[in-house]
Amino acid sequence: MSTVGKTKDPRTVAAANGVAADRAFRAVAPPLYLTSTFAFEGFERNLGYEYTRTANPTRDLLAETIAKLEGGAGAVVTSSGMAAVDLVLSLLRPGDLVVAPHDCYGGTYRLLSARRDRKQFDLAFVDQGNEPALTTALRRKPKLVLIETPSNPLMRVVDIRAIAARARETGAKIAVDNTFLSPALQQPIALGADFVIHSTTKYLNGHSDVVGGAVIAAASSDVEALSAWANIAGTTGSPFDAHLTLRGLRTLFPRIERQQANAMAVAQFLARHPLVAAVHYPGLDSDPAHAIASVQQSGFGAMLSFELAGGTYAVRRFVEAVDVFTLAESLGGVESLVAHPATMTHAGMGPEARRAAGISDSLIRLSVGLEAEADLIADLERGLAAVRSP
Ligand SMILES: *Cc1c(COP(=O)(O)O)cnc(C)c1O
Repeated sequence: MSTVGKTKDPRTVAAANGVAADRAFRAVAPPLYLTSTFAFEGFERNLGYEYTRTANPTRDLLAETIAKLEGGAGAVVTSSGMAAVDLVLSLLRPGDLVVAPHDCYGGTYRLLSARRDRKQFDLAFVDQGNEPALTTALRRKPKLVLIETPSNPLMRVVDIRAIAARARETGAKIAVDNTFLSPALQQPIALGADFVIHSTTKYLNGHSDVVGGAVIAAASSDVEALSAWANIAGTTGSPFDAHLTLRGLRTLFPRIERQQANAMAVAQFLARHPLVAAVHYPGLDSDPAHAIASVQQSGFGAMLSFELAGGTYAVRRFVEAVDVFTLAESLGGVESLVAHPATMTHAGMGPEARRAAGISDSLIRLSVGLEAEADLIADLERGLAAVRSP
């Protein structure tokens, strides 16, 4: 199917994998196979496709392209990011231990807790940046260590290579949720991960018009096990969503490069502002994650969060005054979004777990988009002026 080989630059893969590979009419843009089923040519004879839940050429091309970008043996494209996380969890048996970050994505936190409550596996949430806590958890011989870096919403960064090496010694498989950076900025398999998880809803699609996910595996035996389960459980993504996601993926590199330049400008502006108590962006020299992010990532991404002096009242004034930044959950699209984790993305965690994870009521998260830098800064100025005004 593909026209772009293994050795090509990832930018070329993103822009051109599968282009002009159509054998029927040499369509340049890969066709959308919007069909649930495929005709057999004769008894026990088909062209490799039978039923779209199991496999579909449009979804396969997206999976192949994402797998190449992540340096994996293959990928399974799912109907959402949560379905992708759950697909990795399908490999576990009762009694197996999962070690997950205490400040992981809210939906992942809820899914892990719900499956633990149903006794589908054991679970330990740990601060993976806390050496003694991690050591204690690894001593319990987990079957799966889930890593999410940078973390949501505090942009904490952990050392994937170091944690993966230690987890492997205990016999665990390592899964990294790479949603916040995308393969354009971080490639966990090269750092020792067995699985990479994506909510393709975010940067990979990049246009806030699809909910989807993917799991990339380093080993082909794992790809087979995951695609078998996705077919059994029926969690594969739709061809139309795959088509849109591949279309979005074509511009992944230029989008993220431009967006992270905007994010750096925004972070620097906020860091200088008297009403901002703290900025969490690994791109700032002063950020505790700066050193490790500089080595592990090829960019700092376009997500950041900050603490507003003045609590919930100030947060309300701010989010209602901005208008280039839209108040909405999600991230990674071409448009800038602002979210209040305590009442939105992380509300389900409960106040105690939020406190333990360091997510305060005055924390604001930004997904920085492709708008003009000056408009973004002016909008933040407007928001902060509203906080100050009586
Ligand atoms: C959004 C997100 C998910 C869940 O993905 P959906 O597509 O919303 O199901 C998982 N992990 C991270 C880090 C996310 O940002």
